[in-house]
Amino acid sequence: MAYTYDDQNIFAKILRGEIPNNTVFENDHALAFRDISPAAPTHVLVIPKGPYVSMDHFTQEASEAELVGFMRAIGEVCRLEGVSEDGFRAIANTGEHGVQEVQHLHVHIIGGRPLGRMLS
Ligand code: AMP
Repeated sequence: MAYTYDDQNIFAKILRGEIPNNTVFENDHALAFRDISPAAPTHVLVIPKGPYVSMDHFTQEASEAELVGFMRAIGEVCRLEGVSEDGFRAIANTGEHGVQEVQHLHVHIIGGRPLGRMLS
């Protein structure tokens, strides 16, 4: 599948500094910031700095350094937020069926309270 990246999406604007964000962690290849509408005490979005729509797009086209940088950022956020020990959920809503609202890859890190089972 060929992907078209819309650079007017809200996370692209955050990456360009056009919209403020509450940054939790940043490295060369990823930015992590608090979700504007948190679903739990910890709700952080981790995004790659490159122009990728989805996990499929990212894993096909990103460099090894980008892939590693993104995954390391997820681990760092979990440690910084203190959710590694008790647990958390990492979710990448993708495409139409996944109800992805923002067309720039993002992983939600949600935790800080028991989350219950998620089956739907
Ligand atoms: P989804 O694409 O369905 O995985 O969800 C996109 C997420 O981005 C939602 O949880 C929103 O609350 C969040 N969001 C939208 N705009 C912003 C923003 N300016 N800063 C932080 N989070 C945002």
